[in-house]
Parts: sequence; structure tokens; C-alpha cells
Amino acid sequence: MKQHYDIVIIGGGMVGASLACSLLASADALDMNIAVVESFPLPEQSELSFQPSYDARATALGYGSRSIYEMLGIWDKLSQHVSPIKDIHVSDRGHFGVTRLNAEQEGVPALGYVVENQWLGRVLLDHIQQANTSRIDFICPAEVTEVHYGADQMGVTLKQGETLSEIGCELVVMADGGRSSLRQDMGISYTETAYEQHAVITNVSTDRPHNNLAYERFTDNGPMALLPLENEAGYYRSALVWTVPNEDVNALLALDDDAFIQRLHERFGYRAGNFIKVGKRHSYPLKLTVANEQVRRGLVVLGNAAHSLHPIAGQGYNLALRGVVALAAKLIESRKQGVNLGDLSLLQSFYEQQSSDQDQTIAFSDYTMKLFSNRNPLLSVGRNTGLQLLDLCGPAKTVFARSAMGLDMPLPSLK
Ligand SMILES: Cc1cc2nc3c(=O)[nH]c(=O)nc-3n(C[C@H](O)[C@H](O)[C@H](O)COP(=O)(O)OP(=O)(O)OC[C@H]3O[C@@H](n4cnc5c(N)ncnc54)[C@H](O)[C@@H]3O)c2cc1C
Repeated sequence: MKQHYDIVIIGGGMVGASLACSLLASADALDMNIAVVESFPLPEQSELSFQPSYDARATALGYGSRSIYEMLGIWDKLSQHVSPIKDIHVSDRGHFGVTRLNAEQEGVPALGYVVENQWLGRVLLDHIQQANTSRIDFICPAEVTEVHYGADQMGVTLKQGETLSEIGCELVVMADGGRSSLRQDMGISYTETAYEQHAVITNVSTDRPHNNLAYERFTDNGPMALLPLENEAGYYRSALVWTVPNEDVNALLALDDDAFIQRLHERFGYRAGNFIKVGKRHSYPLKLTVANEQVRRGLVVLGNAAHSLHPIAGQGYNLALRGVVALAAKLIESRKQGVNLGDLSLLQSFYEQQSSDQDQTIAFSDYTMKLFSNRNPLLSVGRNTGLQLLDLCGPAKTVFARSAMGLDMPLPSLK
């Protein structure tokens, strides 16, 4: 551990580790030293578990995120652990509206890819560790307890066991997740909308292959998604995200496997085949949280600490990853010009570039979720007509698909 770094990233989760990966290739040439501080210990080389970021969830990566991983040089490794989404079937339970998206029709090899978070974490960490560089230090387990402004640099207080220590840096990146207590300590307010829902997630097996088809199914008490996963031990597997009102979550978690499968069939139907096996279930409270301030001199708030979204449209991490590479590009460019990495105008220009992507993506997730959770019969007719029209209108579908895949935003250069 050094006394001074150019950048201190708080949180080695999906977002913090992705930022370290994005800076890795330029760090030597630009003489840039980076620390990633994470409160949980790093897993051993072959280990998969790394709580809480790399937990039992799976993440749907849009096709645009694949392009980012290609740019970072990790797609070859990651692609060994993903399941492509070739088709998406969107339906509204008990109503006529259905629309289908198809990769071939949209001119891409896949609309997206599903990866289990544990694999994503493993690949990101391996990429950094195998580079064997002295430019990136993982300081963990260590908790950041305070971030403060010094006369000419930022100060970060670390707690390792009972020992407190200080490191200084030009820039602090807070990638410490949606429950960031540092955000609050620093007086960064945020806007929060509770959806009064939980997501119950689990892996399920079906009696027939998923054929790389993903389902988005809207029901009168919350949307469900079924995402194709890699087969394992002879089982056809999919990842289930089932949103339920808060008052129903405990009862759903308490069901035994057979009763859970029966309830799932009642809500989801049989279009994916028979569900024959269900894994361990976990639940997450759902809210939309957006930090009202995302940059200050010497400070950037990134990932879930900046914005956490309803998971149903699968956009939270994809949006964050676009923010990660946009920030990395700005930092690389500024470093080449000899600009201090904590310079406020540099950070503001990063945020201004990102804000329209954030606004659009957040609005898309939020409106979709509210429109499809509403029982108003007039709205129901409207949304089902909308789904049917979308299904019939190729160009509108392409606009929708490109936006959902994250292909609207140009890729920045990390050179
Ligand atoms: C059910 C569900 C399904 C989802 N599905 C999708 C999907 O399909 N597609 C998609 O794009 N997104 C999806 N998301 C969103 C995605 O999971 C998040 O965007 C992503 O996890 C955010 O990562 P993060 O690194 O910002 O935060 P986290 O994953 O919360 O990581 C924060 C890290 O910071 C560490 N930390 C916290 N405080 C400190 C401290 N003081 N000092 C040191 N370390 C600290 C924590 O230990 C943790 O490792 C889903 C979310 C949910 C809940």
C-alpha cells in the first residue's frame, strides 16, 4: 500500500473493478497509480464467491456492453461464461399484447448476454491480477470510513481490523454501492422512489432447452424476467427475476420448492416448458435512487451509489458500465494533458456527457415498470395495443432494441 495514489476507487464491486480494468492498459504509460479499496476479502484465484457484489444474481449485458468488454480486452474470457440472448419475448399476463425481438432481424449476433455475477467478478479480478502490475493495488479487506478534503489533495481514512490509516489522492471514486453510507456522510443528497416491491431471484431448470430465448412478462402484481443461462450438470437453466409486492415476499420465500414451482407456473405459464428444479432464493428491495450530486472537486460518485434502478429492464449495470468507460476516457485524456484528475471542470464535463444517457435510461426503466404494474383497464388496453403495434412496426422495434442494447451511445477511446 502506498501513501499516495492518483485515484482511489472505493468499492471493488462490479463497477469499481470495471473502472480499474478500464484504466489498466494506460496506467503504466501515464504513470498512474490506482487503489481499489474493498471491505470484503478478495476470493482465492479459483474461488467464485465474493459478496456482496458478485452474489447469486445473473446480469443481462446489452450488446453494447459486449463492445465495451472487447475494447477492454476481456470479452474472450467473459464469453466463455455467458449465454447469448437471441430472442426476447415480451408479454402482459392475461392480455393480448405480445412483442418479440430477434437478434438476426436487428443485425446483431445476440441482443445481449447473460452472465452470472460471480463469473463476471472472477473475470474482472483475474484480468487485473494477471496483468501483474504494481499500478493497481487492491487494499482489502479494508473499509473506507471517511473521505475528506486536504489542502492540495483528497484524504481517505481506511479501517483494517482495528487499525486506522490515511492515504491521499487526486481523485476519489465512490463506487460503494446503493447503500453507500459515505454518500450520506459527505452530505450528498439523493432522490429515492420506493417501488414497494422486492425482486425474488433464483435459478430454475426446465424440462426443455431455453434456445437462448429471454422472457419479460408483466403481471398485475409485478414484472418477471426469465433469462437463459449456461447448462450445468445436464440441466437446462434460466435465471428468474420475479418482482412481488413487499407484503408477498416472505410468503414466496418460505414456500418449499414444489409449491414455489407451482406458484411460478400460475404466474408465468408453460411457454418455457415445465419448471422442474429451483435453486436457492434471494430477495432485494427495489427502489429508484439517484444521487443529486455526482461530481465535486476531487470526487465522483459512480454505479449504484450514483443511480440504482429497477432491475426489470436489465439496465442498471449496463448504464453504469457506459459511465465507467466515459470516466476512464476523460481521466486518460486529462492525464495526458497534465490536468489534475480531481479538477472540477474535467469532472463536470464527464457528468454533462453522461447525464442524458442516465436520464433516458432511468426514465425508460421507471416508466416501463410503472406502466406495466398498473391495473387501470384503460392503461392496460393502451400498453397492449402498444406492444402489438411495436411487434408489427419493424423500424420502431429497431429503435427500441438499439436503445435497450445500449447501442445509442458512441464508445469513447481509452487510448
Ligand atoms: C435483482 C437484481 C437484478 C439485476 N439485474 C441486472 C441486469 O440484468 N442488468 C443490469 O445491467 N443490471 C442489473 N442489476 C443492477 C446491478 O446489479 C447493479 O447495477 C450493480 O450491482 C452495481 O454495482 P456497484 O459496483 O455499483 O455496487 P455493489 O455491487 O453494491 O458494489 C459495491 C462494493 O463496494 C463495497 N463497499 C461498500 N462500502 C464500502 C466502504 N466504505 N469501503 C470499502 N468498500 C465498500 C461493497 O463491499 C461492494 O463490494 C440488477 C440488480 C438487482 C438488484
